[in-house]
Amino acid sequence: MVGRMIQEPPAGSPVEPVHTANRSFVPMQRRNLLGLLATLPALAVLPGVARSAEPSMTEDRIRKKPAEWRALLPADRYQVLFEEATERPFSSPLNDEKRAGTFVCAACKQPLFESAHKYDSGTGWPSFTQPISGSMGTKKDFKLIWPRTEYHCARCGGHQGHVFNDGPRPRGERWCNNGLALEFVPAGEPLPALVQ
Ligand SMILES: [Zn+2]
Repeated sequence: MVGRMIQEPPAGSPVEPVHTANRSFVPMQRRNLLGLLATLPALAVLPGVARSAEPSMTEDRIRKKPAEWRALLPADRYQVLFEEATERPFSSPLNDEKRAGTFVCAACKQPLFESAHKYDSGTGWPSFTQPISGSMGTKKDFKLIWPRTEYHCARCGGHQGHVFNDGPRPRGERWCNNGLALEFVPAGEPLPALVQ
């Protein structure tokens, strides 16, 4: 997970057994629980949700096998980008990077963020108010039960982070990124060649 969880599950369960003198009430609660659980898988296959789970990619997307990326990348970067690992907060030197420049995908080198849109969210992960237009694809994931929006580089599919709706005005977005999934190129230096 990247960033603070902004939607906490409600405290307690709505289907906790009710202590009552009427013991026949408890089995009824259990039936309700089974009914609720039976509805959960259906949520994941609603047409709209299923579509959003498909990652969106650019026209020039590159298709490498996991083994190819593994050979190209250090193990910690590979785990974040292609196994959806999350780095420890405050572990990335990019957290404190304040120079002007461009943040590119650590896998395929596509530019993803401009430094003008970086801000200190206090979360311990590099945070941005917006990505470079068209550079990211998004999909909903359900790892925390409540859907959250995972985003990835739209060129190579590498996992970058999660976007939340508690960012600064005017957009209100917080793009919470793993530093290991990015490389910083200071302004004035040439951008690296795109990996093909
Ligand atoms: Zn990429």
